[in-house]
Amino acid sequence: MTYLVQIAHPLVQHKLSLMRDARTGSGAFRRLLAEIGALLAFEVTRDLPLTTQRIETPLTAMDAPVLAGKKLCLISILRAGNGLLDGFLHVIPSARVGHVGLYRDPATLAAVEYYCRLPMDIGERLGIVLDPMLATGHSAIAALDRIKQRGARQLRFVSLLAAPEGIASLQQAHPDVPIYTAAIDSHLNDHGYIVPGLGDAGDRLFGTE
Ligand code: URA
Repeated sequence: MTYLVQIAHPLVQHKLSLMRDARTGSGAFRRLLAEIGALLAFEVTRDLPLTTQRIETPLTAMDAPVLAGKKLCLISILRAGNGLLDGFLHVIPSARVGHVGLYRDPATLAAVEYYCRLPMDIGERLGIVLDPMLATGHSAIAALDRIKQRGARQLRFVSLLAAPEGIASLQQAHPDVPIYTAAIDSHLNDHGYIVPGLGDAGDRLFGTE
């Protein structure tokens, strides 16, 4: 069974409630998503391996802990993933960044890819895939399929909100990919929206409602 982590930190939950509120405008929504992104980044990277590097402090030499291995790669599923990406980059500014462009066919809810750009050496990096809404799971599954085709071997998936249906589908399709989310909501409605949810994350983020 896939590793599933719900990040119940009070700051995350409080900010998420503000985001859910339909009265919250685009500017505040964007700022809150970036703030939550930074907090999620903290949890998602909690177990990254460390090595040591010899440095001189003003007082003495020491073997100081530093992250081991190649810089990780943050992969935004366009377009709402960019809202989480901003927060992740606040705390991991030197990460590599990839983008996968997918849209949902409104009739079938299937994910259709229109863009994919990743570092050539993605197979040697930890990839953290970002999409605020894990709804049907179609976009997440299609994005992970594509990123694995490009050679990625070590991936984590991060969402803000998840529906039980999306979690189950993603776990079945990609049992090797741990899922991190701030909340697991009740269900999907007939249009594939998460209930109670927060509406269309991309529209609320970019003011395109
Ligand atoms: N995408 C969104 O932006 N919102 C949902 O509720 C489901 C998918």
